[in-house]
Amino acid sequence: MNPVIALVGRPNVGKSTLFNRLTRSRDALVADFPGLTRDRKYGNGMLGGKAYTVIDTGGISGDEEGIDAAMAEQSLQAIDEADIVLFMVDGRSGLNVADEAIANHLRVNQKKTWLVVNKTDGLEEHSAMADFWQLGIGEPRSIAAAHGRNVTSLIEEVLDPFPERDPDIPADTGASGIHIGVIGRPNVGKSTLVNRLLGEDRVVVFDEAGTTRDAIEIPFERRGKPYVLVDTAGVRRRKNVREVAEKFSIIKTLEAIKECHVAVMVLDARSGLVEQDLHLLDYVLTSGRALVLAVNKWDGLEHEAKEKMRAEIKRRLGFADYAELHFISALHGTAVGDLYPSIERAFESANSHWSTNRLTNILRDAVEQHQPPMIHGRRIKLRMAHQGGTNPPIIVVHGNQTDSLPEAYKRYLTNTFRKVLKVRGTPMRFEFRSGK
Ligand code: GDP
Ligand code: GDP
Repeated sequence: MNPVIALVGRPNVGKSTLFNRLTRSRDALVADFPGLTRDRKYGNGMLGGKAYTVIDTGGISGDEEGIDAAMAEQSLQAIDEADIVLFMVDGRSGLNVADEAIANHLRVNQKKTWLVVNKTDGLEEHSAMADFWQLGIGEPRSIAAAHGRNVTSLIEEVLDPFPERDPDIPADTGASGIHIGVIGRPNVGKSTLVNRLLGEDRVVVFDEAGTTRDAIEIPFERRGKPYVLVDTAGVRRRKNVREVAEKFSIIKTLEAIKECHVAVMVLDARSGLVEQDLHLLDYVLTSGRALVLAVNKWDGLEHEAKEKMRAEIKRRLGFADYAELHFISALHGTAVGDLYPSIERAFESANSHWSTNRLTNILRDAVEQHQPPMIHGRRIKLRMAHQGGTNPPIIVVHGNQTDSLPEAYKRYLTNTFRKVLKVRGTPMRFEFRSGK
């Protein structure tokens, strides 16, 4: 798991400025979970071969009386999930009572904390920093987040104790098989499903699990085929079912999404779709991950309820309509085995390779069926298509005036490619390039 850095501080000290700077690398995926975490924001970054996750804890109210409560509600949870806390203060406005209240909280916390004085651009550094020693957090470090001054060296130092590691698992399955991540908000039935998947007939679980720091990988074999379950719920660490489930962790969920080939997102038929589901799905979609949807707790529900749920999912999850949908009961084991063919299909689709010839032919046929519009009296031309990547598949289309291609036409192309190539269970990306 990547080291997790939490940015803490009163409003306006520059947390989101620093957050943006730290998550600006090409592969940064920024997740916004307003419903899940109030204003917290999660992002990924990379520095000198080390990947990290940043949490912007959002504005602490700053109201001196309310600060304790706000701190407790908002940031303590984020601090709890973090390995490192960057406590940010404002070098221009100087020490503030709200800073002191936050410092009191941080001192009792065991987390490694760095005191970061922001906005020191154009200030006489020595006197700007002097006040902040009083906070008792250690040596104040001067940065200017807006200009990037001292930011890289600070983060390098912060990350120094953490080892370099591969930010992503390779796209191919190697010998270990497809990595399946079971995700979902609390109580939808993830642990029940994980136990069910591992407890199925003819499933052999290799108990010497590769235990990384927090996510657990459980290798198993089903009908002679290898798989790895990425367990976010800590199911296998519990000695018995009665032991209380671990606290739901967004960081672990994001980690599992990153480390799996296919995410199985569990929804709860009894409570229907809620905001949290949509935010998690949104993250799966931006991460480009292959996806299977499992509507759980289907036992005892009527057929009409199924149609209603299907319609609701279609209406509200239109953006994830590439995913295959299953109605299951993890508790009774109903339809749980059906998840596997969908997982396989999603994996195959996400990692397919298609020749330039084939893609260009599909493009030509599509254009012949339905021409792109004229722009300024000239027809948009689409000449050639090739594959720009896998997992998720990227199709690069070359032509003229492609910047003017209407959204509706792009959708038409996407649907055509999906249908002809039989791509299911994975998002697809299209890039359009104009050239002479
Ligand atoms: P947050 O509320 O803690 O997330 O703070 P923001 O990142 O929104 O920053 C608050 C204000 O401080 C914005 O107007 C920023 O442009 C400004 N700011 C942030 N970093 C710096 C800096 O390094 N130097 C200066 N001069 N201003 C900064
Ligand atoms: P998690 O927090 O997502 O891991 O959820 P759990 O697996 O701990 O399940 C939460 C609750 O839902 C437990 O009381 C389970 O017994 C119950 N549950 C899980 N799957 C089903 C199901 O298929 N049908 C019904 N009726 N209840 C279920």
